[in-house]
Amino acid sequence: RLKPDQAIVPPLDLFRPERRNSVGLDLTNENTLRALGACLTKPATPFGEIHGVAVLNPADRSDVVGHIAFATLQAREDALARATRAALAWAAVPATDRARMLEMAADMVERDMAPLMGLIMREAGKTLANAVSEIREAVDFLRYYAAGIRAHAADATVRPLGVVTCISPWNFPLAIFLGQVSAALAAGNAVLAKPAEETPLIARAAVRILHDAGIPHDALHFVPGDGEAGAHLVGDPRVNAVLFTGSTAVARLIQKQLATRLNPDGRPVPLIAETGGQNALIVDSSALTEQVVADVMSSAFDSAGQRCSALRVLCLQDDCADRVLAMLKGAMREWRVGNPAHPQTDIGPVISAEARAGILDHVEAMRTRGYPVFQTDPTLECAQGTFVAPTLIEIDDLNTLGQEVFGPVLHVVRYARDALPALMKAINATGYALTFGVHSRVDHTIETLTAKAAAGNVYVNRNLVGAVVGVQPFGGHGLSGTGPKAGGPLYLRRLVAASSAIPAE
Ligand code: GLU
Repeated sequence: RLKPDQAIVPPLDLFRPERRNSVGLDLTNENTLRALGACLTKPATPFGEIHGVAVLNPADRSDVVGHIAFATLQAREDALARATRAALAWAAVPATDRARMLEMAADMVERDMAPLMGLIMREAGKTLANAVSEIREAVDFLRYYAAGIRAHAADATVRPLGVVTCISPWNFPLAIFLGQVSAALAAGNAVLAKPAEETPLIARAAVRILHDAGIPHDALHFVPGDGEAGAHLVGDPRVNAVLFTGSTAVARLIQKQLATRLNPDGRPVPLIAETGGQNALIVDSSALTEQVVADVMSSAFDSAGQRCSALRVLCLQDDCADRVLAMLKGAMREWRVGNPAHPQTDIGPVISAEARAGILDHVEAMRTRGYPVFQTDPTLECAQGTFVAPTLIEIDDLNTLGQEVFGPVLHVVRYARDALPALMKAINATGYALTFGVHSRVDHTIETLTAKAAAGNVYVNRNLVGAVVGVQPFGGHGLSGTGPKAGGPLYLRRLVAASSAIPAE
């Protein structure tokens, strides 16, 4: 079935040049682990200069990861003015040179992999395996967008938009940060990069790498700050496009701000928003239980459920539900929750005390309403870090769900075989449309469900997380975002003004 990104006419190939994804690390190799060595353990002193507020490790709040000084109003104004002035000069840099700088930055991220991973683990509470994937994805984004613009190097009609504001999330503090920034820069725009408040240090390290790789300081500004700073960088009329990954609520506020003005060319100010999901997986009784359990574990609980792609609702056909749930609960008991500094950790902390409180409030509210709750370790030690035990809540139907809960909480509904069409309708009716999966060995079921699913990324007999740049473009629509998909052939198009070679979407 053609997904939105595929249903577009040529010249798609122009955006699909030859390129290889990075290979990552083999964590079963002891020599590799030894080489990472000291970088993964807590250093004696915080990272970087001591100036501004302390950034704490969510797994161990006695660990000061580093300090950050948020950009003042004056500093943001200054960045806006300088980016606006620099935009023309950056646009005039040949696309091949811009691409080369981004490719050099990719090489540098790989070279500095160990310290960057250490920082990701401490600042964002990611596990070692997640830190490896994060580096891979960051590198892939850099090379993908570099290759994408290189393919247009000879086309003088490709014109950048001007100044682009990038607002990135804490759950992929390096990969999504660099994905947004590299796409905007590749397309020839000057960039204001505002990382999530929770994870500014890894973003600062990434910006330094880009500057060291040759991106002029005035073409790329690091502007750490809170929501108010974000609103400033979206609302200013000198900003010609916004890239945002985060909550649906904030995306709507951004849309509202942008709707009040037009770009100098008389067109609306483009917004690419990637937001949340109420992602569902339908499992029928023909599915292979062991595979289902492995895929549910990674989809719902990996990264402590803090992925917008994460599985939120597991839909089990009633005649296999007990079997799957028994095995799933066993697997949940096996996974270790704790500080990612311990190599055995499967699930790290959630990002903050506030996030933890919100997740636990939801679990308690569901318990109060009478829904059965299964938690592996409700007495989890949380004196040092913001941990949440993997949690399973059995509900009657999808109407109970409400808003996305961004943590390791999985809802389960049972369905009867003849209710499958109604279930699929209910999933689409949540209004979110990000990821969806089906586990079945019946071709007809797979074909019917995948054809009906509204989600942007549809997975068959596998997990729902870890979309690979250039292979599985990632993004949704409805409440889940605007598209075009990140790591897909249409992303760069949104960042250039219409040209003869790049037809409008
Ligand atoms: N691209 C990621 C994945 O496929 C999710 C990105 C996000 O959580 O924002 O798991």
